Formats: sequence, structure tokens, C-alpha cells
Amino acid sequence: MSLEESVPSLGVPSPDMLPEASSLWLLRLLRDIQLAQFYRPILEELNVTRPEHFEFVRPEDLDSIGMGRPAQRRLAEALKRHRSGHKPKNWVYKILGGFVPEQETAPSSDSPQSLPEPEGGLKCLIPDGAVCRGELLGSGCFGVVHRGLWTLPSGQSVSVAVKSLRVAPEGAVGTELGDFLREVSVMMNLEHPHLLRLHGLVLGQPLQMVMELAPLGSLHARLTAPAPTPPLPVALLCLFLRQLAGAMVYLGARGLVHRDLATRNLLLASPRMIKVADFGLVRPLGGARGRYVMGGPRPIPYAWCAPESLRQGAFSSASDVWMFGVTLWEMFSGGEEPWSGVPPYLILQRLEKDQARLPRPPLCSRALYALALRCWAPHPADRPSFSYLEELLQEAWPSEGRCVRDVTEPGALRMEPGDPITIIEGSASSHNPSSTTWKGQNGRTFKVGSFPASAVILADMRGSPATRPVHRGSPARVEQHCRGSIDGDRAKAKLRELPSARGQRRNVPLQRIKGISKSLESVLSLGPCPTGGGSSPPELRHARAVPQGPPGLRPCPPFASNSSQPSQPPRERHPWPKREPQHNHPMGTPGASKATVHSGGLLPDSELQRRVMEVELSVHGVTHQECQVALRATGGDVVSAIQHLKVDQLFHLSSRSRADCRRILEHYQWDLSAASRYVLARP
Ligand code: AMP
Repeated sequence: MSLEESVPSLGVPSPDMLPEASSLWLLRLLRDIQLAQFYRPILEELNVTRPEHFEFVRPEDLDSIGMGRPAQRRLAEALKRHRSGHKPKNWVYKILGGFVPEQETAPSSDSPQSLPEPEGGLKCLIPDGAVCRGELLGSGCFGVVHRGLWTLPSGQSVSVAVKSLRVAPEGAVGTELGDFLREVSVMMNLEHPHLLRLHGLVLGQPLQMVMELAPLGSLHARLTAPAPTPPLPVALLCLFLRQLAGAMVYLGARGLVHRDLATRNLLLASPRMIKVADFGLVRPLGGARGRYVMGGPRPIPYAWCAPESLRQGAFSSASDVWMFGVTLWEMFSGGEEPWSGVPPYLILQRLEKDQARLPRPPLCSRALYALALRCWAPHPADRPSFSYLEELLQEAWPSEGRCVRDVTEPGALRMEPGDPITIIEGSASSHNPSSTTWKGQNGRTFKVGSFPASAVILADMRGSPATRPVHRGSPARVEQHCRGSIDGDRAKAKLRELPSARGQRRNVPLQRIKGISKSLESVLSLGPCPTGGGSSPPELRHARAVPQGPPGLRPCPPFASNSSQPSQPPRERHPWPKREPQHNHPMGTPGASKATVHSGGLLPDSELQRRVMEVELSVHGVTHQECQVALRATGGDVVSAIQHLKVDQLFHLSSRSRADCRRILEHYQWDLSAASRYVLARP
């Protein structure tokens, strides 16, 4: 007896209904053991969409859907067989595929099975109802981020961040959707302790990314938090730099360039751990030169960019290294805005013609600043690689010491015996330590200042007063280690420092945040990026401008902007385009059931409901109501409704036309999973 004959009234999809890849395995498995009638209850009531989910299903759960114990044993056996015959696959990877070079344009015949196994852990399509959104955390150019709670099939809840794509009524807009999908596509394949992790994707309305939550918000927000929040200790900033360099080594090894490194895109997962986020601008590095060159005008964060990015739109690991230097500068200047007050069209000129560089922030040691200067070498080839930067950071690491006596001298950094002291700058003289003055940070008060070296013993000096150079690698050593032939002293002599950054972060007025957003709007020719509440200044999140036109000329902004205007309100958009039912539906799959009714004809309620369920089961992420509408539009033809909705799903998932989506779906024999994988890999 066939499956559909055995359980017609239960709405079990027939084999010719093209069930989703997500549920096909389950349907087959149940059918093999004559338990197909439990397909829907297992899928819907127990939320099982993958074989691993059964590990969380208890006998009582199966009891609750009416499955007897003998049937449960049969199921357990079948699952065992299924597992032994199948290497567990990352399911969403099968659905969406990996990051594929952009130049590929025609549908290829690559099957999900032929793709390499990803390294990531759990990444899956998550049912809409499994994620509950809460407080707004922030807002970016193409979406808003909420705190959320993701309920796993086992019932366990996980705190997550949910980024929802903002979509225009007419459908997804190319760049926003492209960035969003590219971000998904990139994140799916990343697994590193300092890169924000993607848990999965909700193919709902709106499209949502479910990510690891960084409960402490962005590093920029933390750096600029007003008193009484204490500033971040120098040693912790160095730790963050090391974490960032490590993450960038990993990204670079995958042939990817981030293009948007900045403290606003570093999130705090815990007080001592940052995670790199915002992969919307990530691109694969191509060609022998290992570069990505922008194809057209797109917003980029001007003040963070390397000269070659501003001039030619060229990005590489070396331009990420440049941005790393700017990020370092931000960290040590308490979240100051780089090149504040310099118009965007002058930044390139300042960098190239005047050879100006951002000034050394007071908290930044000479050794670290020398490292930043290396990152800002004019020629990309002269900049250190990220793995070399890891070494350089080690060299420039500040020493730790402990205060051994009260320091109360006027003008000196106050300290008490036992206070932990981070040495920022030392000019130790082994001949006369008592006359040596050092600069450091008191770990108890977070204050920074100079003090007599004799008041501190270094942590690794075993009791003798500090009398040696305090940086594990002196600036000279750092210079020496940098590869390439950066112009070195010649270049440094030419570098003109701007007026010093505005002091330390303590008591930074709140207004400064406003200042940042305002100046970015004017400096960076900001487009109408939506803003919103959040833990970091959202205005800054996507402060991107476009390098255009010949060098030296004022670049054309991507959007009209007026520095004197207040920030733009968020763009009002419908969360998801209305799905207009198509009345012409020249589709149909050979052998499909054609349970059509003539227009005006009515289906009995129960039959309509059955068909709605059939359609709903076959198209991931559609609502009951959408299925009803689609069925009505197709005169009750189940197959046409499914195809219609699949075209719709793909249309909203990509920036392609409906006709294109149909063509791709036809190419993949209406397998939405394969088609989605294709379009997502080539946004
Ligand atoms: P984005 O759209 O990635 O630019 O994010 C906008 C803002 O949302 C960021 O500035 C963060 O403050 C916040 N945000 C984004 N992702 C997360 C996350 N995973 N955890 C906590 N906050 C986040």
C-alpha cells in the first residue's frame, strides 16, 4: 500500500509533492517502517526536523503523539540504521551551501552531497515559532537586532541575538539583501572563538539570522560609556587586540577580507572576550594579487580605510591590517572618532600627500604605536601580516607590576602598596633606578600617570625594584621585526601627527556620541541608514561612504546627504513584502495531483484545510494564511500553489526576478533547498 493510500486523511505529503529536504528523510524513514501517519505530529508537535533532534525526544513525547511502545522500538531501530548509514551532516550547509566565488553565474549541477563538510556546529533552519524576540539591541543598515530566546526541540532555551532583514514592500533590495545573505553565507562557514557565531536562519517574515548573543554589547559602546563606568584597563585592551588579530588570522586563512574592522563591530561576549561581528562587507579575496576590488560605488567606512581602498576600492588582508591599526587607535583613545572633523575627501590627501597619521593616544605605549604605524605603511606589502602582528603584540605587551610604597608626590600617579600597576611607558635606567620615572595605569583606580619606578616591582622581577625596559620588545625591536621595506624613519619623520586625541576617556561627555554620529554623517556622506536604539551608537554602525572619482577630487556620496541636517529617521518599511497571488500559473509537475476546482467553485472546508496543510508541509517558512491565499489563487491546485510559493520564497531570499527564480527552481526540479543554496551562494 502506498503512503498516500494508507493515510490520505492525515495530509501526509505524497512523494510527488516535492517535500522539503528538511523533512524528506523523516518521511522516508517513517514510510519504511509503516509509521508515516506520525510524520506530521513528529514534525509539528515534537519539532523534529533533523535526525539528531531525536536524541532529545523522550518516550513520553512519542506517547503524547499516540505512538505505541512497539512502534517506538521500530522507530529507534530505524534511527539507528539511519545514523549508521549516514554521516551526520550540517543540515543548513546542505541547504545553503558554502561561500562560492561571485563570478559564477550559471546554475551548476553541484549537489548538496558533493559539498565539503563544514567545520561549524549546529547551524540550521530554525522554525519561525522557535524564536521569540525581545528587547532591541541595535540597528544596522539592513536590519535590526533584537535579543531573543531560541527554544530547541528539546525544550531547552538559549539566549540569542536575532538580526531581522528589513525588506521593502516591493521585495528585497539588492544591496541590503545581498549583504544580509552574504553575511549568512560567510558566517555559516566560520568557527572561531573570536568570531560571532551563527546558529541558524529563520526563513520567515522577515528573514532572520539567529546568532550568538554578545550580552555586553559593542566594544565601542563600552569604550564610550560615561562615568561611573570605569575605563577599560590597558592590559585588557591589549588582550582584545590579540583576540582580534587571532580572529583575523583565521579569516585571512579562509581567503576572506572583512573590510569593516572597527570597535563598533567588536562585540563583548564577556568582560574579557571580544567577538568580531558584522560580516556584511566580507568578500573573498581573488586572483594572484589576493585582492578584492569593488565593482561599483558602495558605502565603506572612510576613516578606517587604507589609501588603496579609498583610491581604487581595493581591499586585501593588508587593508584589514590598516583597519586593525585604526581599531587599535580607537581602543586607546576611548572610542574617539578617527579623523574627526576632517572631510572625507581630505582624508586620502592627508594620508598620501601629507603622510599624516592618527596621533598617538595618551594611553598607547610607544611600542604599540610603532605597531600601529606599521599597520599604516603606505604600501600594502610593507604592512605586517596578522600572524606577524600577533608576535608584535607579544613584543609590545605591557609589563605588570605591584606598588611597594605609598606614592603621594605632587603630580605623580597616586598609588598604595599592593596596587596592581600596568606599565605603559618605561625609560628604565639600571644605573639609577630611583631617578627613573615611568608611566602606568593603576589597576585599582584606573588612573594613568607618571610615578617613580622605584615605587613598583615588576611581577616577574622577584622583589627587586623595576630597573629594566618594561616592554618585552622595545619599539626598536618592533621596527626591526617588521617585514618589508617600509620607509621606516624616513616615513616616520615625514608623518605629521594631528593634534593629540582629546585626553583620556574618563568623564567623556555623552554629547561626544552625538558628535560622532553627526560628524560621520557629514564626514562620511552617510546615506539614509536607519538608526535605532541599542547598546552602541547605531548611527555609527554603518557609517560607510563611497570612494569615487579621480583621486584628490571630492568623492560623490552614495546618497544625497547634508551635514547640517539631523540624522535621518529610520526608513519605514514593511517587514516583508506582501505576497501577491499570481493568477496565471503555467506550472505543474508531471504526475502531480491536480485537485483543482473551477474558479468560483468551493472546496469543502476539510478538503481545503487538508490541502493547505499539504502545501504548508512542502514549503519551508510559509504561513498557513499564505498557503490559503496561494491555493485560492491557483484554483485549489496543490502543486501549482507549492510552486508558486517556492518561487515566492526564492524571490524574497534573493535579489533575482521571479522569472529567474522560476528558472532556477525548474533547473533544480523544484527542490527549494537546492535552489536556495544556489542563490544564497551567489548573492
Ligand atoms: P549590525 O546590524 O550587525 O550592524 O548590528 C547592529 C547593532 O546590534 C550592533 O551595534 C550591536 O550593538 C547590536 N548587535 C548586533 N549583533 C549582536 C549580538 N550578536 N549580540 C548583541 N548585540 C548585537
